[in-house]
Amino acid sequence: MPCSHCSGIGHNYVTCPNLTREQIQEIKEKKKQKKLLLLQKREEKIKAQLEKDKREKASKMREYKIVNDNMYEVVVYWGWMSEEIQRSGSNGLTKGELRRVLYIPPMEDRIIKSNHLHRIVIFPTLEVLDPANPLGAYSYLINHQEDESRFKVFDMDLVNYPDTNIEVKREYTEPKSELEQWKEVALKSNFLLTQIAKITGGGKNKKFELIEPFIDMVKDIKIPEHGEEDKERAGVPSSLTNIT
Ligand SMILES: [Zn+2]
Repeated sequence: MPCSHCSGIGHNYVTCPNLTREQIQEIKEKKKQKKLLLLQKREEKIKAQLEKDKREKASKMREYKIVNDNMYEVVVYWGWMSEEIQRSGSNGLTKGELRRVLYIPPMEDRIIKSNHLHRIVIFPTLEVLDPANPLGAYSYLINHQEDESRFKVFDMDLVNYPDTNIEVKREYTEPKSELEQWKEVALKSNFLLTQIAKITGGGKNKKFELIEPFIDMVKDIKIPEHGEEDKERAGVPSSLTNIT
């Protein structure tokens, strides 16, 4: 092999008579750097390949069987796992955004296709009713994993869920509608007021003269038509209450 510096025969650059000791050191250092760089590049390539393999494995679609083991309907939502959102502002959905997939009636099951880049969240339908769509749940919804403001029966990044059978069962009390809440407050308040009126003899007693004008107003409160079951629900005595 001829010398890499002067192409002379019988020596190499380390022993080249045309180079100073400093120059030789410099060339040595350069070669070393070059080798390091190559090693680094190779390592990066291997890493990228491993990452690609991992992603391919994760994005393999699997069939998940979701069993609704409840007496209420549930609705299944789909989103990206948060890591995936951070990756590249993924595919139209922002962090925590969910898209409705399907409804599952009480005690029934459905199959969905999903992969390990996805997050699956399941709510009772009544928990996510869309006021603009009285018969259905929101088509899109923002809900982060740590968000407990809506009752959930399931919330998982599927990468952390090795099984493909998702059985959901969780005790749930339906939320009261706004009307039901007002009925309850009204009937409770009215019950208390009429009790006070009764106990104070309508405020006619001298002892109660200070509150008599208010007691008089109680009978002017018109409670809209309601049934015994409304009273029962509001927790005030009704004809349905067992009287012993
Ligand atoms: Zn030489």
